[in-house]
Amino acid sequence: MSLKNNNCPYFFEGKCNKNKCIYKYHIVCINNYSCIDINCKKGHGITFIKRKIIDKLYEKFYNNNFDNSKNKCIYPMKCYNKSCKNEHHLEYDERLFILKIFSNMNDKENMELYNKIYNNIELNNNYIIQFDNIEKELTNLLKD
Ligand SMILES: [Zn+2]
Ligand SMILES: [Zn+2]
Ligand SMILES: [Zn+2]
Repeated sequence: MSLKNNNCPYFFEGKCNKNKCIYKYHIVCINNYSCIDINCKKGHGITFIKRKIIDKLYEKFYNNNFDNSKNKCIYPMKCYNKSCKNEHHLEYDERLFILKIFSNMNDKENMELYNKIYNNIELNNNYIIQFDNIEKELTNLLKD
């Protein structure tokens, strides 16, 4: 089987199965994880949703001490050593969150997790549900 003579359509979404891929070109985007251009057709290690989530985390939590630090960790985004004392792009919790979304292929779940943890969206819904339950229980108690 010969290779198809064009850019791999899966690679840019971080979904290429490299061992079995039939496309010839896999050009890596120089921005890779930090590329948030939805039309970029070059290769990224992860999906657009994951890149977008990382972009939001960087926007909110970027460690401004990192750039001028003399003790930069060699894995500024992907260091999972809790006791590492070097400077990173993000705090340990955010780095762990990124690890979590990297290992989950379901980006809908990743978006839900992001909303839940960083926007309290599900917590608000839960609050409403709890309130409903209390109301129901009260109505039950009031019977008779
Ligand atoms: Zn491919
Ligand atoms: Zn790109
Ligand atoms: Zn580190």
